[in-house]
Amino acid sequence: MTDAILQALRQVCGPADPAQPVALHEPDFRGTEAWAYVRDCLDTGWVSTAGRWVSRFEQELCTATGAAHAVAVSNGTVALRLALHLLGVRAGDEVLLPPLSFVATANAVAHLGAVPHFVDVEPGTLGLDPRAVQQRLEAVAERREGVLRNRDTGRRIAALLPVHVFGHPAAMPELLAVAQAWGLPLLEDAAEALGSWRDGTHCGLFGAMGTLSFNGNKLITTGGGGALLTNNPELAQRARHLSTTAKLPHPWAFEHDAVGWNDRLPNLNAALGVAQLEDLPRRLEAKRQLAERYAAAFAGVAGVELVAEPPDCRSNHWLVSLRFTAPDPTEAEAQRLVVLEAAHAEGLLLRPVWTLLHQLPIYAQAPRGPLPVAEDQAPRLLNLPSSPQLLEGWGA
Ligand SMILES: *Cc1c(COP(=O)(O)O)cnc(C)c1O
Repeated sequence: MTDAILQALRQVCGPADPAQPVALHEPDFRGTEAWAYVRDCLDTGWVSTAGRWVSRFEQELCTATGAAHAVAVSNGTVALRLALHLLGVRAGDEVLLPPLSFVATANAVAHLGAVPHFVDVEPGTLGLDPRAVQQRLEAVAERREGVLRNRDTGRRIAALLPVHVFGHPAAMPELLAVAQAWGLPLLEDAAEALGSWRDGTHCGLFGAMGTLSFNGNKLITTGGGGALLTNNPELAQRARHLSTTAKLPHPWAFEHDAVGWNDRLPNLNAALGVAQLEDLPRRLEAKRQLAERYAAAFAGVAGVELVAEPPDCRSNHWLVSLRFTAPDPTEAEAQRLVVLEAAHAEGLLLRPVWTLLHQLPIYAQAPRGPLPVAEDQAPRLLNLPSSPQLLEGWGA
């Protein structure tokens, strides 16, 4: 089985060479205007947190996603923290989110002094399971004097925070219905989902707000960066205000009407972002082709399957993910380890999915519902090298 998997990998990634390892997802600026745009920042002196590239990046994010408003910030974690704050999450509140995510999703909650509360995912999308959210709320939530509280902890349950894992859209219409039924604001962690759509809506635009990341390993990168997406003009205006130290507009006076943050994206990074966004359609096409090539290469390999694009969705295929299908997750995990070791020895730097967040010591005490699906899936998932530059002819 390991041999068949490695052969399929070589078929897509080319002949392996430990001296030139193939990473999971690497930045690439060839074939873009990145140099020219960065040069403009240096030539004009506009390198910091204001400037025309920031505005242009935000406009182009709106064009690419259909959002009415985009606010560029310094990274995806900051975007989540700011959006949670804007939706009313405060110290001591609980936020419902999946344990199958990058640690930043829970960290953003913790940075506000709030507490992540883990709810199970579905095996298909790997995102939050709307039925599990409904059942968890029925089990622990009660409304006291108009406030939704966790009966066990006494804390307010303040928001629902689904994640679009590896660029596959979560079950948004159903999650939105649950959120609305319980009066919970919904924020989408769309850090991995630029260019992913469900039923004609871009990820991040189902709920009140969504957030993106432009970290170095994401589909497009600004070096480091993030953004908030929303169709609500008031939330967008408050996001801009709070992310620029809550300074009141005035030609010279320093007046601030809230304890704001310094969260805005520098013009230099936005210039890279514009160059990358102009290249988005080509990137999405390359990712689709790469996913198809993996599908063909793994078609005859027993004991594994690829995580598939959910029905009615267009996934950006940020990371191609292999699932070991052995009935027992412990057996699947053992098979995965053998493949990881063999692939790394060849210079193919596959990565297992994240350690489930409730299994990290930092979140072991966090409240949680039953998590059978997350605990069954996590040991099975292995991410494959997914850079668009793995396609021949890329960057030529
Ligand atoms: C990358 C990522 C983030 C955080 O983004 P940064 O820009 O690295 O802070 C948050 N959530 C998910 C799911 C991510 O993949």
